Amino acid sequence: MAKVLLKNIYKVYPGNVAAVKDVNLDIEDKEFVVLVGPSGCGKSTTLRMIAGLEEITSGELYIGDKLCNDVAPKDRDIAMVFQNYALYPHMTVYENMAFGLKLRKIPKDVIDKKVREAAKSLDIEHLLDRKPKALSGGQRQRVALGRAIVREPKVFLMDEPLSNLDAKLRVQMRAEISKLHKRLNTTFIYVTHDQTEAMTMGTKIVVMKDGVIQQVDSPQRIYEHP
Ligand code: ADP
Ligand code: ADP
Repeated sequence: MAKVLLKNIYKVYPGNVAAVKDVNLDIEDKEFVVLVGPSGCGKSTTLRMIAGLEEITSGELYIGDKLCNDVAPKDRDIAMVFQNYALYPHMTVYENMAFGLKLRKIPKDVIDKKVREAAKSLDIEHLLDRKPKALSGGQRQRVALGRAIVREPKVFLMDEPLSNLDAKLRVQMRAEISKLHKRLNTTFIYVTHDQTEAMTMGTKIVVMKDGVIQQVDSPQRIYEHP
């Protein structure tokens, strides 16, 4: 069974805005799926429904083989990385990374080990005592990734995680996220409006337009036969 399955998913926002219309998507284990398309086409809404941050108007969402329409975000086997990092400003890097585990009542020594391992793998060990405001954009993004990694989710959700970084750093972080995907060997669902990002990172590309999926294919086929 697919790792994430969307069946006839619709999202209608108040005011009768149909943001997502009859989306069907079958995401296999360990894929790197990129949702791509112009601003306003429904990418973010789709991702947020998978995360449980947005209610599904109709249709069915399965994560693993569990129907998740009414499952709280923290009880889904997912972690999300946002465009604006969404770090807690009053907490240190360590506390930011530990927070999601503390919430789930994981023992402190286990949390400590996971935080330090993740920090080491992202080369931010030396920043653990800092507050987010004392970090660069790239460092903040690493912390946001670290906070997701320590949870060891089955599915990583990323919403334009690189769009606040300058061009050079964006290219570097692209490669790092691809490496991370290989290392963790798990499912990534990644939203971007940037075709280059989609093409270089995705193993499967989902092209959306006006709330509808237009095309699903490998990056090679999408960009050879648009
Ligand atoms: P994308 O991520 O592709 O830019 P979104 O999923 O953010 O697209 O938005 C899809 C559509 O839904 C847009 O028309 C947007 O204006 C609308 N929309 C998004 N969020 C809301 C909301 N909270 N209330 C009403 N409409 C919304
Ligand atoms: P609490 O307030 O519930 O004790 P904290 O988040 O303050 O929780 O700390 C939890 C544990 O994590 C502490 O035992 C501390 O040793 C460790 N810790 C917190 N911040 C850091 C840090 N910056 N570097 C190393 N260890 C830390």
